Amino acid sequence: MKLYNSLSKEKEVFVPHLAGKVGMYHCGPTVYDHVHIGNLRSFLMGDFIRRVFEINGYHVTQVMNITDVGHLVSDGDDGDDKMTKALKREGKEITLENMIAIADIYAESFKDDLKALNMLTPHYFPKASDHIQEDIDIIQKLEEKGFSYTTSDGVYFNTEKMADYGKLGGLDLDKEHESRIGINAEKNNQADFALWKFDESQGWDSPWGQGFPGWHIECSGMAGKYLGEQFDIHTGGADLRSVHHNNEIAQSECATGCSPYVKYWMHGEMLNFGGAKLSKSTGGNITLKSLAERDINPLAYRYLAMQTHYRSPMNFTWEILESAQTGLNRVYKEILELQRKSNNNVGHVDEHFKSEFESKIYDDINIPQALAVFHTMMKSNISADNKLATAYYFDEVFGLGLSEYTEEIIDIPENIQVLLNQRKKARENKNWEESDKLRDTLAEMGYKVLDIDSEQKIEKL
Ligand code: AMP
Ligand code: ZN
Repeated sequence: MKLYNSLSKEKEVFVPHLAGKVGMYHCGPTVYDHVHIGNLRSFLMGDFIRRVFEINGYHVTQVMNITDVGHLVSDGDDGDDKMTKALKREGKEITLENMIAIADIYAESFKDDLKALNMLTPHYFPKASDHIQEDIDIIQKLEEKGFSYTTSDGVYFNTEKMADYGKLGGLDLDKEHESRIGINAEKNNQADFALWKFDESQGWDSPWGQGFPGWHIECSGMAGKYLGEQFDIHTGGADLRSVHHNNEIAQSECATGCSPYVKYWMHGEMLNFGGAKLSKSTGGNITLKSLAERDINPLAYRYLAMQTHYRSPMNFTWEILESAQTGLNRVYKEILELQRKSNNNVGHVDEHFKSEFESKIYDDINIPQALAVFHTMMKSNISADNKLATAYYFDEVFGLGLSEYTEEIIDIPENIQVLLNQRKKARENKNWEESDKLRDTLAEMGYKVLDIDSEQKIEKL
């Protein structure tokens, strides 16, 4: 199994820290709003990595944090943090309790998104606000070892004390010094970053004064607690590599004295929209709710994400998502046909296609090429029951729910058929409002309608 390691900038053979086991950590969302589909691309990458390791027989421990407090508006140490902004946006008083309450709402919404995209639930889902003591412990160790200093607004990590600071790359330290000069004159070095920020009005008590942990320390605190001082894989979007992850390495390695903190750093490229990274601030606030408004199955987004390797940037347009939905529906239809043909007998996984598939997934999680193997297999002349078995096997990695996609043969009562006919007409006339209304009525009457390749499929609820 080979993985591209951002640390060495090479594909490396994977050697686990502990035989047969994989510990992996994903930088989770800052829950100040619903996550957008760019964020979800990064989390899907984590899900595919976990599934590939599991199909390979590893015992995986997956940790994804929820960032619910802190001073985190940007990589810098200044400005309003995102959670404070969320409270202002929603007209709520700025208190720690409100911050945590609002975060809980969006954390739940995030968990719904993970389910809608068929992502496996991480084994640990720690919230930053529950791990303040872990952060304080690390900062104390750094202080004892002489890696920190205190200014009027916080406790800072002294980057000059770490010989290989910035080893993940992406930081031009000279430039970093120039461009940030004047932002915080009290810092020894502009690359130094906050471990703890003072806040007189709210926050937690600490040996240095009331306040909040820095953004970077939260991940060191949670990863260390659940995965130990050294672990296998750490992921995140490529935008986190240069500052957040270099800083996480600095804190963890200097506090524990263990290096490397993480053996394999894996970074997912960005989802772009209209020529720029998709983000709320650039007007690209596309969420799974936006997809539902257009009647798009969230799994069509999963299927779309599977078509670009995680290390390549991906451009989003509604048109390509719609064609992914058509493509996915075609796959479901093929699966239904195979089920019918084989009388629902699941045969044996085809050895040839299995080894082709594995050669792709074990080569730096190449899902797009694995998907190409799937399509070739579906077109091949192997028997329907073996095709079904092979498709279900591949789907342990793809996560498209193929084996759950069974057809229930039901007698449709006449009144239901009338509504279905009306809905068909509404859809032909592109009257989505009417079509949604009829879908809701059918649901109230105990029937779920799915739209597959412009045909309506009905299931009993
Ligand atoms: P945040 O909530 O901003 O901390 O981001 C959560 C995760 O989403 C991080 O791993 C980011 O790197 C990732 N991310 C943010 N924007 C995008 C994007 N447009 N495409 C892919 N990943 C993104
Ligand atoms: Zn992080």
